[in-house]
Amino acid sequence: MRGGFEPLVEEAFKQTSFELIDTEGERPRFIDGRLFIPPGLLSQAAEEGFRRLSFFFRESHLAMLAEQLALAENDKKPGNDGFVLNALLRNAVIAAKGELALCQDTGTAVIYGWKSENVFTGSGDDDAWLESGIGAAYKKNNLRLSQIGASSFLDEFNTGNNLPAQIQIHASGKNPVYRFLFIAKGGGSSNKTSLFSMTKSLLEEQAFEKFLEEKIKALGTAACPPYRLAVVVGGTSPEFNLEACKLASAEALDSAPYFEPGEDKEKSASLPWIRRDKQWEEKAMSIGRRTGLGAQFGGSSLLLDARVLRLPRHAASCPVSIGVSCAAHRNLYAYIDSEGLHLEKTVTDPAKFLKERGINLKTFDSNTAIIKRISVNKGIKEVCKELSNFNVGDKILLSGKLLMARDAAHLKWHNLLKEGKALPEYLYAYPVYYAGPAATPPGKVIGSLGPTTAGRMDPYGEEFMSRGCSLVTVAKGNRSAEWKKLCSSYGAFYLGTIGGAAALLSEENVTGNELLDYPELGMEAVRLITVKDLPVFIIIDNKGNSLY
Ligand code: SF4
Repeated sequence: MRGGFEPLVEEAFKQTSFELIDTEGERPRFIDGRLFIPPGLLSQAAEEGFRRLSFFFRESHLAMLAEQLALAENDKKPGNDGFVLNALLRNAVIAAKGELALCQDTGTAVIYGWKSENVFTGSGDDDAWLESGIGAAYKKNNLRLSQIGASSFLDEFNTGNNLPAQIQIHASGKNPVYRFLFIAKGGGSSNKTSLFSMTKSLLEEQAFEKFLEEKIKALGTAACPPYRLAVVVGGTSPEFNLEACKLASAEALDSAPYFEPGEDKEKSASLPWIRRDKQWEEKAMSIGRRTGLGAQFGGSSLLLDARVLRLPRHAASCPVSIGVSCAAHRNLYAYIDSEGLHLEKTVTDPAKFLKERGINLKTFDSNTAIIKRISVNKGIKEVCKELSNFNVGDKILLSGKLLMARDAAHLKWHNLLKEGKALPEYLYAYPVYYAGPAATPPGKVIGSLGPTTAGRMDPYGEEFMSRGCSLVTVAKGNRSAEWKKLCSSYGAFYLGTIGGAAALLSEENVTGNELLDYPELGMEAVRLITVKDLPVFIIIDNKGNSLY
């Protein structure tokens, strides 16, 4: 047990508040001294768990965002952190109405299970029962279906139910209880996980500091900071290291004991093998502040917190991973015992929660002195001309029609060019917003809608810009040096909008939504949307200047 995650996870459960949920059907009961859990209860746990984490934050995350906002507002050089944090908290308030999910990317569904040897379900396939609950949660709650299957090595299709999920169930202890950690992991956030095969030479003060600085800077802003950072050094295999990284970013390994100054071998040998390091966690935080990236558009709030963990390693290997949980930090514990299903409590009324802490949230246009408005309904040339009056980092409220498209549509257009065909007319007429919405709830204009990562569209820069398309793009995160060059060659602009505030942007800033092309692409179909006062920052201008 000294090398495994279970004791730490068990401690995390002890420190969490749960509530007993009313469920339907058969109840758990003891049969021959072992707890029988009807498999239908697994489906109900997954369904309610993923619904809950898609709309409501756990209290600790909301409290950290609120604290960070207070810090940003008292900072002498606040950058744009206050603007972003205000938006993220207002987003939590809107999502908690239960209609628009916290983020449009409702993630890959991940489940870690810890099953006692005194629990049985008789199903022979717990994964299938859990998956059926996940499928129901995504369908019934207008969550986004993001999973792409392969119909041949190169051809893909949307699976239509957000499955498959990633499910890992571990055997754990004798207490008759089945524990779960549900995680909804967005693609942007997942893409920031990196594994490095290092050597002992990294385990030296200066070398590790340099490494940490380099890797934290490289995180950039595409995964919607502020981040919960996890860095894991060591591990009996690269796979074990990565599992620790994922669990750590979900706060599940927080009870790993810190190293103590002057600790001897005997003491270390009596403690769990998974340990934390306070000094390196503080250094990571300070590096995060120094990057100046802030919560997306400059400032000091790149990181909300950091976990730096040390694991044992083979003498010849030193796997090191770095990962983040993004602004949409969606993790939820659950357990089933003889009483029934228990789910982690979340904050169901964030407005009241924030008010009790003296937090008054500000709207996008509350500082009219530093915000300008422009309309994009006047043709791309005119829009570029108007944008050229601004500097990188300037905030603008954008109104008018935007073409919404992302990866799959860009590949289709690329293929049209390859076949010698013309690009669709609409590509010449509107700025392109890289995004894919969650399903539209009844009565809403569109489902949760925020930007996706711009950099994935970078390979199409030259072929589109040289034809007069993609001259104004809206998305999130940093872009390649090549894109900057193209902006200066073709007089183009790249604008960033807030990631992780999709419920807010959908509710307040989208007034029209029309399906335009490729309906078969599901959430990646091409749409024409109308926005009103969508907040954007100039990230790259037509001279190739960049905010990052
Ligand atoms: S907040 Fe950003 S990184 Fe996180 S899931 Fe949403 S879009 Fe992805």
